[in-house]
Amino acid sequence: MKYDTIIIGAGMSGLAAGVRLAYYEKKVCILERHTTIGGLNSFYRLRDRNYDVGLHAVTNYAAPGTRTGPMAKLLKQLRLRWDDFDLSPQVCSSVVFPGHKIEFANNHGEFIEAVCAEFPQQADGFRKLVKHIEEFDELDLSQEAVSGRKVLGEFLSDRLLIDMLFCPLMFYGSAIPNDMDFSQFVIMYKSIFVQGFARPFAGVRQILRTLTRHYKQLGGELKLRQGVQEILTKNGKAVGVRLDDGTEIEADNVLSSAGIVETHRLCGTSLPTPEPAYGELSFNEVIFVLDRQPQDIGHNETIVFYNNTEDFIYAPPEAPIDTRSGIICSPNNFKYVDSQQLEEGFIRITALANPQYWMSIPDEEYYPAKQHWCDQMAAAAVEHIPDFRPHIVDTDIFTPRTIKKYTGHLNGAVYGAPHKILDGTTGVENLFICGTDQGFLGIVGSMLSGITIANNHLLR
Ligand SMILES: Cc1cc2nc3c(=O)[nH]c(=O)nc-3n(C[C@H](O)[C@H](O)[C@H](O)COP(=O)(O)OP(=O)(O)OC[C@H]3O[C@@H](n4cnc5c(N)ncnc54)[C@H](O)[C@@H]3O)c2cc1C
Repeated sequence: MKYDTIIIGAGMSGLAAGVRLAYYEKKVCILERHTTIGGLNSFYRLRDRNYDVGLHAVTNYAAPGTRTGPMAKLLKQLRLRWDDFDLSPQVCSSVVFPGHKIEFANNHGEFIEAVCAEFPQQADGFRKLVKHIEEFDELDLSQEAVSGRKVLGEFLSDRLLIDMLFCPLMFYGSAIPNDMDFSQFVIMYKSIFVQGFARPFAGVRQILRTLTRHYKQLGGELKLRQGVQEILTKNGKAVGVRLDDGTEIEADNVLSSAGIVETHRLCGTSLPTPEPAYGELSFNEVIFVLDRQPQDIGHNETIVFYNNTEDFIYAPPEAPIDTRSGIICSPNNFKYVDSQQLEEGFIRITALANPQYWMSIPDEEYYPAKQHWCDQMAAAAVEHIPDFRPHIVDTDIFTPRTIKKYTGHLNGAVYGAPHKILDGTTGVENLFICGTDQGFLGIVGSMLSGITIANNHLLR
């Protein structure tokens, strides 16, 4: 059996690339090591409840029928309908720093006004920054990386405002500590502050099942529990893969969503370049199930990004967890159709984690440490939202170790390697990467990444 393209990984990017290739009648096979689809944004069932691994919110929201922008482009490229993702917009989110709060809710004009009202001295500079962002072509894949902090410093002088703008954008899409490439800043700014947050009522299952069904209907093959152990090369070209069980499969092209370092390792010594650096930024996430809706305890916001100190530090902490900042998300607080409501209340809290600590801690200390830091994260969160702790009926916690185990990402690095390969090339003629380490991050970003690399390299 020989394929036109083998795709490594059934996460968002691999599935989207698969749909694109299958649509054009390419013989394509997605190989996934895990027992299920979704990768960093999967789903699972635990103690009779459905959980999402990663979904806080889908970014890049657009109202159904919108003709321009990333969401419209995504649906068009995948030949999907607006209903297929069933997105409902957020209620309202906020960025909360000492003495300052900026609210936003899928309305860029209101966001600009909120920033200017909170930081009147910075209003002129901020409006000029917004104009610069609007005119910037973030999709030019040939651009050199430029420090986002440097560019923002040319428009704004208040470090606190700069940090407040960076906080949600770094949490949702920076693979490098304390800064972002300006191009990535623009992508994230537009996806969060211009377009905004939404969620399917059924969670990430809605998106993953839609993609998988569509892919299979188009003739694509999906093989679960089929890890790729090695990418086979001959005379500098990829010729196929060897699976964990030793089976070899031939292909004209290989597209990997495993990550650039991980892909490098799958090639053994056949890649001419030295092994790239791998990422260090990872998170602990705690999901609390409540015996009531968050609104019933007075919590109406969709997502709260908080930081309790003078400076915002986005870096792997020395402590196991950095509770000085974090994300508090409630999947209940979206404007679902017909005022539908999830059966139970959920509060999800995310905080920066020290991957080394969570990878190396012995098993007998791991579970008590998870619980200890879960309690610390909840205590930090209730400084910003009403105390939900008396209403907890179940809890699940995951760490960088969990992420590594289920996705293979070294260090459990959620946003992958610090240096992105925007054009998707690897140095091996017919081996490409898509997803996290190509550089378009998040749910929508990684699907667009799969589509872009398929279009640019595999459908030409
Ligand atoms: C806790 C958390 C919360 C998040 N919240 C959000 C959010 O609210 N909104 C948002 O937009 N994004 C969010 N993200 C980010 C988003 O999930 C990712 O950016 C996106 O899912 C990445 O998709 P991908 O296809 O690039 O990579 P992955 O999802 O990592 O897919 C790669 C796949 O390849 C498989 N694989 C790896 N190696 C091999 C191998 N050798 N053989 C076979 N298979 C292999 C892995 O098992 C995996 O399934 C979150 C992530 C996490 C972890």
